Amino acid sequence: MLVLKVESLKGFSNTYLVWEGGELLVVDMGNEPPIDLDARNATLVLTHGHFDHYMFAHEWVRLTGRGVLFNRADLPIMKKAPEWVLKHFGVKVPPPPPAERFIGEGDVLRVGKFELVVWEVPGHSPGSIALVGKGITFVGDLLFEEGGVGRTDIPGGDFGRLKASIRRILTLPDDTTIYPGHGKPFKVEDAKRWIGPWL
Ligand SMILES: [Zn+2]
Repeated sequence: MLVLKVESLKGFSNTYLVWEGGELLVVDMGNEPPIDLDARNATLVLTHGHFDHYMFAHEWVRLTGRGVLFNRADLPIMKKAPEWVLKHFGVKVPPPPPAERFIGEGDVLRVGKFELVVWEVPGHSPGSIALVGKGITFVGDLLFEEGGVGRTDIPGGDFGRLKASIRRILTLPDDTTIYPGHGKPFKVEDAKRWIGPWL
């Protein structure tokens, strides 16, 4: 039997812990690992390469003994992040975490018996991905509750591509739960009501 559990660590950005069959998959690392968490051998995935989602990736890597999975297209902005973020936000950020491997369209990630398919959903960043599983999807900063959408006024952002990516996510069944990179989860049908007319 498949028993899926999704827990979120909430800071400025969300970190999701996805459990199934005794295995753990961690989506985004903008929060520190909980002190009592046994994350040995957990799979680490980034929805995109912005610093607020990988701030604590090095701590997670130390804990799991594995590198991080992300889309190669975000590597250039990740490499420039420490300098760019310091200049624009005055925040010191760590260098990008080591990649275990790069992932892209159609790749399948497994946690226990549960499968998540990688969809490339560029717009907020060139290498943004969504993880699409039965009934749930992790979308990073593509869209948020109450009709918010990811900003595109930062390096690598593209509003036209963002809109196309949102349209694609809204082809999922209405009762699919969308787990965004910031704020609370919501359903595809809510998102359709909030931003359908605007799209
Ligand atoms: Zn972002």
